[in-house]
Amino acid sequence: MNLQSKLPNVGITIFTEMSALAKQQHAINLGQGFPDYQPDANLLQAVTDAMLAGHNQYAPMAGMPILLEAIANKVQAQHGRHYDPTTEITVTAGATEALMASIQALVKQGDEVILIDPAYDLYAPAVILSGGRNVRVPMLPPTADRLEFAVDWDAIHAAATDRTRMIILNFPHNPTGLILKDSDLDELEHLIDRHPQIVVLSDEAYEHIVFDEEEQRSAIRREALVEHSVLISSFGKTFHATGWKIGYCCAPESIMQEIRRVHQFLVFSVNTPMQVGIANYLQHSNVISTLSAFYQKKRDRLLKGLATTCLKPMHSAGTFFLLVDTSALGTGPEKDLAVRLTLDVGVTTIPVSAFYDDANAAASNHNLLRLCFAKQDSTLDRAVEKLQTLK
Ligand code: PMP
Ligand code: GLN
Repeated sequence: MNLQSKLPNVGITIFTEMSALAKQQHAINLGQGFPDYQPDANLLQAVTDAMLAGHNQYAPMAGMPILLEAIANKVQAQHGRHYDPTTEITVTAGATEALMASIQALVKQGDEVILIDPAYDLYAPAVILSGGRNVRVPMLPPTADRLEFAVDWDAIHAAATDRTRMIILNFPHNPTGLILKDSDLDELEHLIDRHPQIVVLSDEAYEHIVFDEEEQRSAIRREALVEHSVLISSFGKTFHATGWKIGYCCAPESIMQEIRRVHQFLVFSVNTPMQVGIANYLQHSNVISTLSAFYQKKRDRLLKGLATTCLKPMHSAGTFFLLVDTSALGTGPEKDLAVRLTLDVGVTTIPVSAFYDDANAAASNHNLLRLCFAKQDSTLDRAVEKLQTLK
């Protein structure tokens, strides 16, 4: 059949591609972001108990009341904002579904959406499906004295127009590990002040992984931004259970009404026993308050190991990723090097260029690869040993 693709430029994701290569080559997979250890046994038990107690039929469309309530309490404790669990919070099939539902619900034909590059892979195709237009604003890449990316607010202000419907933020940021500063939120306030039609879609999937005593500065902490913001998160990252595909979004009622119109026809509702199990587990667990320290140790272990290699690590302020500069190995497309490292050294990474509109463009390649440190210490140590052979 002669079909015209709605997403002609979309292929298989870089995460799938590199994981398949890692498997084929028996390489250590520091590419796709997922832990190689189990979630807390108490969480597994809580979900099992929920199934055995009979929570196996459809949940209400927006989520099980017990989980909606738990999310409302969690957000209130973290950011001091109250979202009404009945009208302003929805449990979703991962952050992925929350993002897709929000973009389909809120972006119309011809609307412009500002993406900050490097950008997580689903944003741009989701905007295209909604009929919107992506306006991609690159971050400033690291320099000799600044070992991290920086948001280019001048370029964002210049890119905003009367047709801008949404800006998509993702902090802590995948892949760079950047977190927001107070000055970034000031700039966001200016932007919304000048263009009050803009919705801030805030992908905070890594909200509980922030290092060095810093905190998660969410857009919803600012009074002027709450009415414009959709907060999205993922339990997959927080509970070491990326395969469970459960997350949530919070937004003012008028926005949430629109998101739910799409959510109810994307999945209708999210699986029930996970919802009940997570809600019960959240009452007794300290996983959230200890998560940043847990990952900071892993980041620092990997940093120490990388110091014995020719790869130069960039600063990671949050998430379970860090970038390494590979200039010592020569220059060229990051993807080629990522493939070569898998084949020759047995360590799989993700090229940062994959998070840009055109992965092959020179402007998308800065000799940077992303490493995931959500791995057992022994996995990280073995990876470092292999990377030491690089010259
Ligand atoms: N946003 C970002 C920035 C992510 O890194 C991911 C997944 N790794 C998601 C969204 C999707 O989260 P989920 O697996 O909960 O759908
Ligand atoms: N978000 C994960 C990452 O950045 C991958 C998720 C996926 O495979 N789609 O590695």
